[in-house]
Amino acid sequence: MIDTHAHLDMSAFDGDREQLFEAMHRSGITSVILPGVSVDQWQKQIQIAQQFDCFFSLGIHPWYVPESIDAAIIKLDAMLQQHSKNKRLVAVGECGLDKLHHWSDKQLLLLEKQLALAQTYQLPVILHAVKAHQELLTMLAHFKLTRGGVVHGFYGNSDMAKRYISLGFKLGVGGLILNPSAKKLRETVVNLPLEHFLLETDSPSMAPFDHPQSRNTPLTLLRVVSEIAFLKEKSTVCILEQLNQNALQLFDL
Ligand SMILES: [Zn+2]
Repeated sequence: MIDTHAHLDMSAFDGDREQLFEAMHRSGITSVILPGVSVDQWQKQIQIAQQFDCFFSLGIHPWYVPESIDAAIIKLDAMLQQHSKNKRLVAVGECGLDKLHHWSDKQLLLLEKQLALAQTYQLPVILHAVKAHQELLTMLAHFKLTRGGVVHGFYGNSDMAKRYISLGFKLGVGGLILNPSAKKLRETVVNLPLEHFLLETDSPSMAPFDHPQSRNTPLTLLRVVSEIAFLKEKSTVCILEQLNQNALQLFDL
């Protein structure tokens, strides 16, 4: 299985990254996508993707709106160009809107410019979406991205999910599904076909509700898959097969 969203380049993993990758491989987690968050972090991400034979995306997270958006976008454009033949580069992001953290109009501008680059380089986008679905859906409808993308860490009802799906997006599901009180998400997973979902953990964030203070790792995926299998009343093998195929297809892995 593939963790489509894990920040394993972050310093939280500097002490035991090698052991973690070994443990993941033993558990059947064959690869991860390391999402980009800021200009400063890209080099480390690319180096780790190389070292551990996994994938990465390049982008600027809405929590890290740079001083000069134009200068940062020029750098992103140059990096995307430089790695356009690199098979490990699979998406633009993570980019998006977050009304609960560092919200300002600048997030809108930063996102617009990244969506335009995703279209230029014909890459899918990894979206971070918190309390700003209306603005996001309007923007995505305008850009009509050929390769679509994923709304990572999706939390919403089936109607909201369907609106993203109609724009070519998949929905990233992680540790939140394990929380019995995440009713909207659990219902969405029950109601919609499996082909619309991707597996992710958002490590080191989003630790499962029963270990809220701990560092999250891709090993949580095993529990996430079991929970989806339980909700869909299917075998874990069947769930894994479809979810893997979704990731391979969207990111052309
Ligand atoms: Zn993330």
